[in-house]
Amino acid sequence: MSVREDIRTRCRSLYEVLSDYLDGELTSEESRLVEEHVAMCPPCQGYLEQFKTLYRMLGHVRREDLPPDFDHVMGGVLEAWRAARGRS
Ligand SMILES: [Zn+2]
Repeated sequence: MSVREDIRTRCRSLYEVLSDYLDGELTSEESRLVEEHVAMCPPCQGYLEQFKTLYRMLGHVRREDLPPDFDHVMGGVLEAWRAARGRS
């Protein structure tokens, strides 16, 4: 499975690894792909900023300490962001 190369070109692949990226759990190669994508994709730049803000709000919460519906909630945030982006 070569999903990782997709990180640079597909926004959806970027979203999937973004929490790992912020957790520092990606390899340096994968982190580089994330940074290259964000550098040339302004919408994802904005999304990354929102994501970082959310992470700061959560503090240093460990993923296993998050509520079970966290991914569902994050999915909702993502959908709202996409909808807002579609309208503007
Ligand atoms: Zn993007």
